[in-house]
Amino acid sequence: MHKKDGLYYPDTLIGTDSHTPMVNAIGVVAWGVGGIEAEAGMLGQPTYLLTPDVVGVHLKRSLRGGVTATDLVLTVTELMRKTNVVNKFVEFFGEGTASLTVPDRATIANMAPDYGATMGFFPVDEATITYFEGTGRTKEEIDALKSYFKAQGMYGTIKKDAIDYSQVVELDLAGVTPSLAGPKRPQDRIEIGKVKAKFTELFSKSAAENGFSKKPEDLKKRVKTRDGMDIGAGDVMIAAITSCTNTSNPGVLLGAGLLAKKAVERGLTVKPHVKTSLAPGSRVVTEYLKRAGLTPYLEKLGFNLAAYGCTTCIGNSGPLKATIEEAIAQNDLVCAAVLSGNRNFEARIHASLRANFLASPPLVVTYALAGTVLKDLMTEPLGKGKNGEDVWIGDIWPSAQEIQDCMKYAMDPKTFQRLYSNLADANPMWTKVPSVPGQVYSWPKSTYIAEPPFFKDFSMQPRPAGTVRSARVLGIFGDSLTTDHISPAGSINPTSPAGIYLQEHDVAVPDFNSFGARRGNHEIMMRGTFGNVRIKNLMLPVKPDGSRVEGGVTFHQPSGEQMPIYDAAMKYISEGVPTVVFGGEEYGTGSSRDWAAKGTLLLGVRAVIVKSFERIHRSNLVGMGVLPFQFKGSDTVASLGITGDETVDIRGVEGEIRPQQDATLVIRRADGSVKEAPLLLRIDTPIEVDYYQHGGILPFVLREILGKAGPSVRAAA
Ligand code: SF4
Repeated sequence: MHKKDGLYYPDTLIGTDSHTPMVNAIGVVAWGVGGIEAEAGMLGQPTYLLTPDVVGVHLKRSLRGGVTATDLVLTVTELMRKTNVVNKFVEFFGEGTASLTVPDRATIANMAPDYGATMGFFPVDEATITYFEGTGRTKEEIDALKSYFKAQGMYGTIKKDAIDYSQVVELDLAGVTPSLAGPKRPQDRIEIGKVKAKFTELFSKSAAENGFSKKPEDLKKRVKTRDGMDIGAGDVMIAAITSCTNTSNPGVLLGAGLLAKKAVERGLTVKPHVKTSLAPGSRVVTEYLKRAGLTPYLEKLGFNLAAYGCTTCIGNSGPLKATIEEAIAQNDLVCAAVLSGNRNFEARIHASLRANFLASPPLVVTYALAGTVLKDLMTEPLGKGKNGEDVWIGDIWPSAQEIQDCMKYAMDPKTFQRLYSNLADANPMWTKVPSVPGQVYSWPKSTYIAEPPFFKDFSMQPRPAGTVRSARVLGIFGDSLTTDHISPAGSINPTSPAGIYLQEHDVAVPDFNSFGARRGNHEIMMRGTFGNVRIKNLMLPVKPDGSRVEGGVTFHQPSGEQMPIYDAAMKYISEGVPTVVFGGEEYGTGSSRDWAAKGTLLLGVRAVIVKSFERIHRSNLVGMGVLPFQFKGSDTVASLGITGDETVDIRGVEGEIRPQQDATLVIRRADGSVKEAPLLLRIDTPIEVDYYQHGGILPFVLREILGKAGPSVRAAA
């Protein structure tokens, strides 16, 4: 709530993080937008949205003891992906909603982008009030909130049939079971008792079937690292308590601490190959773990505080032990990470780890103790206790009552008030970082921040948007291509175009840092675009063993020469040849990463043609002046026989364009034959037409600002 001129308004928020919907848990209408749209917002542009469908999720009964909010959110994610809630609002209602605490609701709301929804909304009710009381809000603030929502008729859990939703989906909370999700996507939930069987099954399945294309007999192969460690497929190399989704939920954090305590007391230890870490988003977490007396046990198992903020969740786990990385690479081992994050797309967590499982913090600790995902925790003991006895997961799993008894340490208003009252002074190192003074940044030479070329040759008159004629195909990708595939945030490979560029600029390999840290430098970012080590360009032929070539490579045409996608893109730009990219369903899923669109533009891609888009990435492409198209009907890359050696025209968008108009894809094959296919232009609103015709949001906004300014300012520009 906020008050202005004597009137109260409910809070709303547009955030640049895709996990902005977390505040839907306290009744705030909020969603994430791409950085490009946010930049326009900061410069005074309104945010546009087509009126969405609202899907009501009827929550029945309540969670059983021992089942965590993470188990619930992985179940919701699976259900929502099956329902297809992309571009839709989701609202939770029914008696089950009332049974959830605000932190549990926040866990579910936070993952809205991971199940494809714009929001995952909860009403303001008694649980909201309890949360505000426990986190240091004043009585006056709480009274105002409650009175406002009551006066508006919006207070309390929504009953069945009270609202006419576009669609209603049922979920019985009592049927939710402990689960993990993976090994490559958050919606692929696996019940805990089926993890071993699932990993075994996927081990020898093809990539198209979500598998790892290995020989079944290699599953049991063990190898020795140079320093004598015994490792093999399925071994857990990273166990990380991480991510805003879970570390803001004291129920699961205290659960992890209590489990660690019982494990230590029983004499269990973490396997030596597991890299463990604890990275909450708030200092409140370390404070309540300490007060509950659980920190020493977590530390004993290696879950020491690593940082506050995004760590393993976004690929910032740092390197594995060199000898382990070496053995994985030499033997092509499929090893695992288990993390309490919400995204596990290929190569996001760690370039060397191909199987990544999302799980609750207590399960993260459990798998660190087990050391492998090939141990069936339902039928095999976790390990041996002090006296040589078998210890089972059930022996150390905390009860709902034990967690409840510790909750008093987490909901302490004074702690929230103390830790949030001095945020600006909380990190003296940060305040000491030198900065460039003055109103206009002077772009000192740096491999971290460089002046981007988006306003190069800017003029007040937009250039005609141009046509897509005789374009070449830069890449063909399958379903669920994530923004992590398009613009990775993690480590930089020394032999990749970005790695070579850094070395040419005197940056030594240990100082590479990550793409995420260098996202202020377009030279690095464009070299990383479509450069994920696991991306599969379907233009390259299938390997003899049935697997696909991985990494950002393509064929330059018509030479047919194989080269990195960045090199091919630069060659096409120098030849004056436009390019297009083809994809499948859910293109651009995952983080709201604006570099996935910026990099696409800087590689000279004029159009992206896919089966369906994820909301934020589509909007980012338009925001950068790249045309998004969808195939119509049952057309796909495969059904149209597109292989990548064709030239492509797109007809119908040459002059005036209209939102969601039809266009025609003309495919000219190497043998001289021509095929046409209808396309749907996914420029969705009239304002997006303006953005596109101005070459993107940023030139549009700049022209608007300069148009209102005096002639002297315009001349200076
Ligand atoms: S990277 Fe992880 S911790 Fe960071 S905002 Fe995203 S989900 Fe949250």
